[in-house]
Amino acid sequence: MIPYGRQHISQADIDAVTEVLQSDFLTQGPAVPAFEQRLCELTTAQHAVAVNSATSALHIACLALGVGPGSRVWTSPVSFVASANCARYCGANVDFVDIEPDSGNMAVDKLRQKLELARSNDTLPQVVIPVHLAGASCDMQQIHYLANEFGFSIIEDASHAVGASYQDEPVGNCRYSDITVFSFHPVKIITTAEGGMALTNNTELADKMRLLRSHGISRDENLMTEPAHGAWYYQQLLLGFNYRMTDLQAALGLSQSLRLLPIIQKRQLLAANYDRLLTALPLGLPALDDTNISAWHLYIIRLDDKTKRKAVFDGLREAGIGVNVHYIPIHTQPYYQQLGFDWGDFPLAEDFYERIISLPMFPELTGEQQQYIADKLTELLQ
Ligand SMILES: *Cc1c(COP(=O)(O)O)cnc(C)c1O
Repeated sequence: MIPYGRQHISQADIDAVTEVLQSDFLTQGPAVPAFEQRLCELTTAQHAVAVNSATSALHIACLALGVGPGSRVWTSPVSFVASANCARYCGANVDFVDIEPDSGNMAVDKLRQKLELARSNDTLPQVVIPVHLAGASCDMQQIHYLANEFGFSIIEDASHAVGASYQDEPVGNCRYSDITVFSFHPVKIITTAEGGMALTNNTELADKMRLLRSHGISRDENLMTEPAHGAWYYQQLLLGFNYRMTDLQAALGLSQSLRLLPIIQKRQLLAANYDRLLTALPLGLPALDDTNISAWHLYIIRLDDKTKRKAVFDGLREAGIGVNVHYIPIHTQPYYQQLGFDWGDFPLAEDFYERIISLPMFPELTGEQQQYIADKLTELLQ
């Protein structure tokens, strides 16, 4: 089976992890700050906080922004459930903003409409979490204008978009957001096995997230409520978690990040090749405006005829092609239905869901494999 996504591990990656295994620190050593520093350089963000998953990063990002019981957090229904669950962990209410039909990203006009309604009902959100679906940024400048007008904070869920650019600047620079989150799960652009990162230009938010990732414990005397009792002394200042990334993971991530540019370039070539191979088929192909350079985490096709989706999907799987669907709209999940959502609530997200298939997309995918996938797809669409 050709998988839909797969990590790329080089000898340099193996050597980097081996070196940590032979060193004094498997965790809380020098590799984590080195990886954080590297991500700051790549994105130009001022602070990077490495954690054990993007889900953890989203959780502590919400907490650092003051999300709590009674808060309102809005995200996209076309995302992995973690984009919404992070707010639920804080006891907040979640709502969704419908999408643009071709990119699958949060639609700015829908966001504005919903904000205007919320303002008149006094139910404005504290935080909005746009998700850069497949690796292409949402229209962050417009969303940022709305944040200023309506007074909410922004967390970019850039789990798909490490290495992407928006308006000629790296995604993760937080120009238009308070915090940006990356995922390093093996199917994503670069990996630490499990891992995530929260980036910000706000020192207070960074300090808060550092506390939250490690039990709320600090050894900084400036933060203590009484003088340190001795060198052993620390204080727990708030209720945090064990969300730390290990040095093994950070060394892998650092080594991978040195190949970020060629990885993105390879994904771009693969996407362009799919574009060429599939152009004549009755499909919507990923469409990017010129403000975006996608990281191409996913290559999502949209069938013109959605009644064929299941048969085409099954046919591709039977042909050994590990296609997938990104995503089942979050609001239709039973957990979210129990909270009052239902089919019909976000019709554009649902229509998108019914048409989409994610084709295999990973650096070691070959041109021959792409040709095979295109041939099968052509056959199945006849
Ligand atoms: C993968 C993913 C996450 C969660 O990432 P983990 O690192 O597995 O916790 C969150 N949001 C989106 C959009 C994702 O694709």
